[in-house]
Amino acid sequence: MLSEKIVQNLRNGSWIRAMFEEGARLRQAMGADKVFDFTLGNPDPEPPAAVREILKKFVLEETPGIHKYMSNAGYPDVREKIAKKTNHETGLSLTQEHIIMTCGAAGGLNVILKTILNPGEEVIVLTPFFVEYNFYIENHGGKIVKVNTIPDSFQPDVEALKNAISSRTKAIIVNTPNNPTGVVYSEENLKKMAEVVDAKEKEYNSTIFVISDEPYNKLVYDGVKIPNLLNIFTNSLIVNSYSKSLSLPGERIGYIAVNPGIKDVSLMVDAMVFANRTLGYVNAPSIFQKVIAESLDEVVDTEIYKVRRDMLYNNLIKYGFTCVKPEGAFYLFPKSPIEDDVSFVKSAVKYGLLLVPGSGFGAPGYFRIAYCVSIDTVKNSIPAFEAIAKEYKLI
Ligand code: PLP
Repeated sequence: MLSEKIVQNLRNGSWIRAMFEEGARLRQAMGADKVFDFTLGNPDPEPPAAVREILKKFVLEETPGIHKYMSNAGYPDVREKIAKKTNHETGLSLTQEHIIMTCGAAGGLNVILKTILNPGEEVIVLTPFFVEYNFYIENHGGKIVKVNTIPDSFQPDVEALKNAISSRTKAIIVNTPNNPTGVVYSEENLKKMAEVVDAKEKEYNSTIFVISDEPYNKLVYDGVKIPNLLNIFTNSLIVNSYSKSLSLPGERIGYIAVNPGIKDVSLMVDAMVFANRTLGYVNAPSIFQKVIAESLDEVVDTEIYKVRRDMLYNNLIKYGFTCVKPEGAFYLFPKSPIEDDVSFVKSAVKYGLLLVPGSGFGAPGYFRIAYCVSIDTVKNSIPAFEAIAKEYKLI
């Protein structure tokens, strides 16, 4: 009765969702205060107060026409503001024509993939990667090609990338700060990647789009700077959203910024606007377009996340776990004490710890902790991590 593909996808399921369901069961059985749910990247902090005030203004002022349809690309004045901000950061010359408002980063990625992919064309992702890329690429008839990052640092492996690019490669998705590792790709590595992409485009006489999926680009610690990928890759597009930087994941608001240097850029933009319409998004939520246009300099208090990162990271290291210290996002990706990460994650449940196996991100042998949870959850989870470290004889 149903599409075989979707039934198969459902069966393979998502580990994140599966563990989330397990959490509901566990809270019933053990009591909510004994369950430490680190499964979902759903930010705990409320949106900044200034953003909530701007939202109230738009709701209470009853601006005429604010609930109507608009251009499928979004409000011109909102896109103009985002273009100006991007120009300020990059020194490039974007106009509102280069910005398309989307239903979050997920919407933006689907719009781009629908626009560029012919059946069977390849999209490279760097492992470990956000699991939904599998489905977004499949949605538009593409083929996912997974390229490992360097073990233990999770930085891009430029040689491996070079070997993976073929005449069928249509795009590379780059996600820094990264979900699930929290790693920020170094500017040096990104520039080396750009050299490889340029050379391969020449070799195959092709265009390889670099899609920078960057919902975490404002969530960085210790003064780390994220280079703007529009300045590094010519055939590049940025996909951004306010889901994480303003704690607004339920509002589905984001945008695509297109590099003006792309050949036939206006045809590409027209095609993306058409895709935004015909994928059924029609346009990004109206009120939230207006809200973010007045919130472009706002960001949640990153100190909240830094405190959680430090508490978890320092204790995990103390208890014998191995883990890269993340410089961004709100994830830790430690090594599983046993090869079988799925068994490890299952065994953590008895301590009330809900984690996601690395296999879910294409990286078996690791597990993910999403620390965008309350500080009490983090504090109270520490003895549970100690107990599991003892069980696996790490201490
Ligand atoms: N890309 C990455 C790497 C993510 O981690 C997420 C959400 O967790 C998304 C995209 C989707 O973000 P949005 O809620 O803005 O659609």
